[in-house]
Amino acid sequence: MNLSLKNQVALVTGASSGLGYACAEALAREEAAVVINYHSQAEPAEELAEKIRAGGGRAIAVKGDVSKEADVDNLFAQTLAEFGRLDILVANSGLQKDAPSIEMTLEEWNTVLDVNLTGQFLCARAALRQFRDQGHSPEISRAAGKIIHMSSVHQLIPWAGHVNYAASKGGVDLLMKTLAQEVGEARIRVNSVAPGAIATAINEETTQGEAGKALLKLIPYGRIGAAEDVANAVVWLASDLSDYVHGTTLFIDGGMSLYPGFRDNG
Ligand code: NAD
Repeated sequence: MNLSLKNQVALVTGASSGLGYACAEALAREEAAVVINYHSQAEPAEELAEKIRAGGGRAIAVKGDVSKEADVDNLFAQTLAEFGRLDILVANSGLQKDAPSIEMTLEEWNTVLDVNLTGQFLCARAALRQFRDQGHSPEISRAAGKIIHMSSVHQLIPWAGHVNYAASKGGVDLLMKTLAQEVGEARIRVNSVAPGAIATAINEETTQGEAGKALLKLIPYGRIGAAEDVANAVVWLASDLSDYVHGTTLFIDGGMSLYPGFRDNG
């Protein structure tokens, strides 16, 4: 099994924490040069870049808000200026602004859609343009470019109190599938990963302590996920080992999407 991403360049958005951080680290372990995008936490992003460089790898940290077109343009321009090409985009940035629908403000709705859906579109569009411009180099990868969207089990499972988040991830599903249908002929692969409950900053309140124990009832496999569970799958999806995987969502959820409430006959 060869997961190597040697001579490839990966851009991971929202990589100063959680799943993005783990993905950037894992991609660098397989020898990809990594662009670590961060929104506001410069320190962990710079530290990760330094750690990768100290280990002999190539990495830079770049600030940018994925919901802003000019920031996304700058992020890709810096990627090209530093590494000269792009092979892998992990569109990971995301956030929650939770409220019962009846009380949700337009600002809460828009912020989540802007980052989780529009941000993924803007980054994917910029990646597609770059893949088109640089052309296919089969000696680097069997695909002419790979896009991996960070979705969620909530692209499938409705989530009361989180209508903006669930709608954004439902949108990511058809964004991914439509792009995949559109650009497959150009040998560009587009897929999503849909994590279940993975312990990160986004869900500290629900994955720790008593709340964490209650959460286990929703996970047939009986444990809360770790960021590495997702990062390992992202590396595989970025590698040639998954070359025939296209337009698919890989659920990494310990079975959360299997309707575990029906285990005891509903
Ligand atoms: P996290 O809060 O640690 O990471 C989210 C990252 O997105 C942060 O680094 C944050 O700075 C960045 N971000 C937020 N707004 C941004 C913006 N405007 N521009 C650029 N970056 C921005 O949480 P996480 O769990 O690592 O979440 C990463 C992704 O995984 C999100 O898309 C989230 O929806 C998804 N996800 C997480 C879980 C889970 O259980 N942790 C489950 C399903 C999906």
